[in-house]
Amino acid sequence: MSHLIHRSLRQDPPLALRGEGIHLYGEDGRAIIDGSGGAAVACLGHGHPRVVAAIKAQLDSLAYAHTALFSCESAERLADVLVGHAPGGLTHAWFCSSGSEGNEAAIKLARQYFLEIGEPQRTRFIARRQSYHGNTLGALSAGGNAMRRAPYAPLLSPAFSHVSPCYPYRDRRDDESDAQYVARLLAELEAEFQRLGPDTVIAFMAETVVGATLGCATALPGYFEGVRAICDRHGALLILDEVMSGMGRCGTLHAWEQEGISPDIQIVAKGLGGGYQPIGGILVHGRVIEGFRRGSGAFMHGHTYQAHPIACAAALAVQQVIAEERLLDNVRAMGALLEQRLVERFGNHRHVGDIRGRGLFWAVELVRDRATKQVFDPALKLNERVKREAHDRGLACYPMGGTIDGRQGDHAILAPPYIVTAAQ
Ligand code: PLP
Repeated sequence: MSHLIHRSLRQDPPLALRGEGIHLYGEDGRAIIDGSGGAAVACLGHGHPRVVAAIKAQLDSLAYAHTALFSCESAERLADVLVGHAPGGLTHAWFCSSGSEGNEAAIKLARQYFLEIGEPQRTRFIARRQSYHGNTLGALSAGGNAMRRAPYAPLLSPAFSHVSPCYPYRDRRDDESDAQYVARLLAELEAEFQRLGPDTVIAFMAETVVGATLGCATALPGYFEGVRAICDRHGALLILDEVMSGMGRCGTLHAWEQEGISPDIQIVAKGLGGGYQPIGGILVHGRVIEGFRRGSGAFMHGHTYQAHPIACAAALAVQQVIAEERLLDNVRAMGALLEQRLVERFGNHRHVGDIRGRGLFWAVELVRDRATKQVFDPALKLNERVKREAHDRGLACYPMGGTIDGRQGDHAILAPPYIVTAAQ
């Protein structure tokens, strides 16, 4: 048995030995299509020569310099590429090593911002049920995934409360139009601001497209515009977690571009570095930075490996390849094809309740009964079975089990690399 603590302590996973393009190869030499890029990570596929060369070049010149003493070229250039043109008013970037760390930083930056501008009474966050913001305790407190929260509930922060996500497949009533359902969700959010006291709320946090917990659940038109208006009315920040849905995954560089709004703080990870190095970060609106400049002048937060030279060099190369090879065009084209094929093959399957997504980010929700939307018994561990059966057929996908509150079915996410071809 392995001495590594694997995700299961009962069964060791197979070894992955090599990756090339959209394929992973294990000990049996068989090519497995990396159909979900892990958890929507490997956006350029594996072994991209330009990214590998950028990492090697960075390693040859500078592996590490502490950010209390120095900046480095790759981090500066990565920030320029991401926010140099101030998309949606986002003018500054901060880099860490994961999506969870990015969420922690967003939470702390938002709290400190209100101290800087003289509103210390703001101590509360509103987030959503059936969401995921990471596994560290702050991010887990923000998240609304009942199964992940349950074991650690006594350790989670009471500063976070949760409202409903936008999940029309199950939550829109039969007698409601999309617009009425959105209005009901916005009324619920407004009521939560009122319950807490609007001037005590720091921010509303949401995934622009819900990733692992609901499975590629996109918001209905008008939802995020309404959310933005509520936050603005109460002087609260809007934090969008695009760890899974961002950096091109949904067909635009940022998923919020398709919602007609922009956030005050955005969290990025996964597709930022495409898995070539561990990297995440936050992109921050100019007015938030201005609050810090006029105040203490420093974000009271940091990590040893923040803005790591090699991680930033890898992410810079990934983003340059995506832009120069116009890969988002391919994300949109292949996404449309993937949707069409999924609907053709599974649209009428008796155990497929819903097929949803955007760009190259699609999920199939599996239900016991299509008519009643009844979920499978969690004890069946359907997600494990889907993973195994897919692997046997040469596909790595990302299946998730329904949560213990029984509010959603199992689903499998498909999030192929942006380089995928129609034939593949
Ligand atoms: N936020 C979202 C939306 C995610 O999907 C994830 C990971 O799946 C995270 C945060 C946490 O990122 P990490 O696993 O890199 O800490």
